[in-house]
Amino acid sequence: MTATLIDGKAFAGHVRAQVADHVARLKEEHGITPGLAVVLVGEDPASQVYVRSKGKQTVEVGMKSVEHKLDATTSEQDLLAVVEQLNNDPEIHGILVQLPLPAHLDEDLVINSIAPEKDVDGFHISNVGLLGTGQKSMVPCTPLGCLMMLRDYHGSLSGLDAVVIGRSNIVGKPMAQLLLGDSCTVTIAHSRTKDLAEVVRRADIVVAAVGRPEMVPGDWIKPGATVIDVGINRLDAPEKGEGKTRLVGDVDFHSCAAVAGAITPVPGGVGPMTIACLLANTVTACCRANGLAEPEGLTA
Ligand code: NAD
Repeated sequence: MTATLIDGKAFAGHVRAQVADHVARLKEEHGITPGLAVVLVGEDPASQVYVRSKGKQTVEVGMKSVEHKLDATTSEQDLLAVVEQLNNDPEIHGILVQLPLPAHLDEDLVINSIAPEKDVDGFHISNVGLLGTGQKSMVPCTPLGCLMMLRDYHGSLSGLDAVVIGRSNIVGKPMAQLLLGDSCTVTIAHSRTKDLAEVVRRADIVVAAVGRPEMVPGDWIKPGATVIDVGINRLDAPEKGEGKTRLVGDVDFHSCAAVAGAITPVPGGVGPMTIACLLANTVTACCRANGLAEPEGLTA
């Protein structure tokens, strides 16, 4: 391996420490405790793990954590009533509805019922529009985490060629907007892109957000490029024992690390940054709600 390893786990620890500092100051100087509410509908095991982890980390940085666990058969009306109650609760500064929702619930409708200033996932249509027009918004956590790591590694991103693979609303598109905001020349590649290898070879920065295990090989990477691997894919790992699995990203780590200038691992790269950025967004939302200065370096 020749690439510098971008250690997302350590970086997330720094972000959480910054958040905790700011939370302590808000309490001490203003008597305010930032509050994050997470709404979980149904029993999806992966969602339950995420929600538990979010609640634990929220408390660890000194914020108030509220969890609403609703039955899988909850009606849209009842879910909207919970969101409305949280919208009106002055002790709650961030609201997150864990996705995916059961099929009978309209995700867009529910997300757009969250007060935009409390939408710490940054998925509300108002925040999407604000980000797209370069205005102050709540920024989706995963791309925000990628941006923080890129800024930290490169300093300025201005003029760099960036290729984002994947055009989802939660990762690919907002990632591209953020890179554009930092004056990269941005290409969004996707499942219909012709000659993806050639497109990726032009990039100084590659962000892979596809959901296909190890699909980007080292010979697609320009020597010295920075590779950010958003993918989280579980593969069978019989060598670890029966029924065991291992996590891999969307890039083939070993061949890419031999060519890249810097690379994030999976696990331990983008993943830990996502919850850290959720905490950062909550403290930012709290400061904005109270007309106070936002913590530096924790927003886009
Ligand atoms: P998605 O399924 O919504 O979007 C995938 C995108 O990849 C699509 O836009 C599609 O056009 C593109 N794509 C599919 N096949 C392709 C191909 N062969 N070549 C080029 N592009 C192709 O996925 P998502 O929600 O954006 O997530 C992407 C990955 O990132 C997943 O592995 C997911 O688990 C992971 N993820 C990680 C985090 C984190 O915290 N680290 C957060 C969100 C998503």
